[in-house]
Amino acid sequence: MYYVSTRDNRPWPERIEFEETLLRGLAPDGGLYVPDQWPHFPPDYIRAMRGKSYAEIAARVMAPFIGTALSPPQLDRVLAAAYRDFGHEAVAPLREIASDLWLMELFHGPTLAFKDYALQVVGRLFDEALLKRKSRVTIIGATSGDTGSAAIEASRDRAAADIFMLYPVGRISDVQRRQMTTIASPNVHAVGIEGSFDDCQDIVKALFADAPFRAAFNLSAMNSINWARIVAQVVYYFVAGVALGAPDRTVSFTVPTGNFGNIYAGHVARLMGLPIEQLVIASNRNDILTRYITDGTMVLRPVEPSLSPSMDIQVSSNFERVYFELRGRDGRAVTEGMTRFRTTGALPVSTADLKEARRLFAAYSCDDEATLAEIASTWRKDGILLDPHSAVGVAAARVRRSAGVPMIALATAHPAKFPDAVEKAVGFRPPLPARLADLMQRKERIVKLPNDVKSVQDYVRAHARPLKGVAA
Ligand SMILES: *Cc1c(COP(=O)(O)O)cnc(C)c1O
Repeated sequence: MYYVSTRDNRPWPERIEFEETLLRGLAPDGGLYVPDQWPHFPPDYIRAMRGKSYAEIAARVMAPFIGTALSPPQLDRVLAAAYRDFGHEAVAPLREIASDLWLMELFHGPTLAFKDYALQVVGRLFDEALLKRKSRVTIIGATSGDTGSAAIEASRDRAAADIFMLYPVGRISDVQRRQMTTIASPNVHAVGIEGSFDDCQDIVKALFADAPFRAAFNLSAMNSINWARIVAQVVYYFVAGVALGAPDRTVSFTVPTGNFGNIYAGHVARLMGLPIEQLVIASNRNDILTRYITDGTMVLRPVEPSLSPSMDIQVSSNFERVYFELRGRDGRAVTEGMTRFRTTGALPVSTADLKEARRLFAAYSCDDEATLAEIASTWRKDGILLDPHSAVGVAAARVRRSAGVPMIALATAHPAKFPDAVEKAVGFRPPLPARLADLMQRKERIVKLPNDVKSVQDYVRAHARPLKGVAA
């Protein structure tokens, strides 16, 4: 299988292999990589996933995308290692909330949010690819609290990566900070910046813009548009579907959505042959995608903070991959559309595009008040404690589900990750799971730097391992 960029407008677009998309992340033209054709699983192949473990299903789902980058035994080894330490035997267990309404818990990884399901694999894929090339990367990112720890957990103890994660001092929660600063691996550097999250992001941008520095340390981002992350997320759609009767039965999913990476993976699963009736976009008050599906306009508004901060996003980057399909895989049209979106705040949408988008996705949005009400009522009536992101999803699932089709709401974070919102709804703070119970007692390594590019650059120079002489 080959991959093309959504913005490649040359008559013969460049086609690259999996490993190259993994290491590049974003295409040089600013586009996102997508497969040049979709693998299709016949019903028998899907049926044969029944009774298999999460890692075994992952190998079957991911193999066609990975091509020759890893041999089948290498892929099995990576996947077994990636999911070995998850906190639940089933990795992604299903719980029944009500008749034909299910919750898939995607919070049993090391940082208690669904991003672990992809990043634990992607970190190991980076290692495999880089060791083969006798190379190394320096991963640099900025976090407003939530995603930094998932990237750190994915990179810790990796032979071929050092990670520097910048966070704004005093502006993230104690749990969020401790999930980064208590990791004792020598290749992990959580760096507090005396500034805001935007300052941290500006520093990261400046480091990437410094070409000699970027080259000297082989900077990389491992960010949410990386194709490998999407592939690893396709897996749990198959796991859930097969457990509830696919391919002999149709299922639906509701997905708490921000950057559109998670729900897009569901779309890919459907293209590959999983019988999915509805894919429901669930959004909080930052509801650009829901407005698109319901009102037919994709218009930017300022981001407003909500109780589900990981969904406080207006530009859902991965939507570009759907737009590429809506525009007939025409890189020129996508480039023009995205430029218009950036400059005018509105994405050009034709009637035909909209009709197709509505065939592919349903949507529902829910404000903070409704989120708290959903946490409270699901706890009282069904005895299940939801985090605010998952609550937005369950609220949408209840409204959008149709009779006789199992609706699976994806739970994207553990309630203990967002204790303030949960306490507001139910009156108590959910305890951290046993393996994180001593987090508040663990020893922290605190590094604080002033808000300037030079300090961070000096720090990276002093602490990143040299690129030369990597031992395979
Ligand atoms: C990242 C995240 C989301 C949004 O996922 P996207 O792939 O960006 O749509 C939802 N919930 C939680 C808890 C997250 O961390």
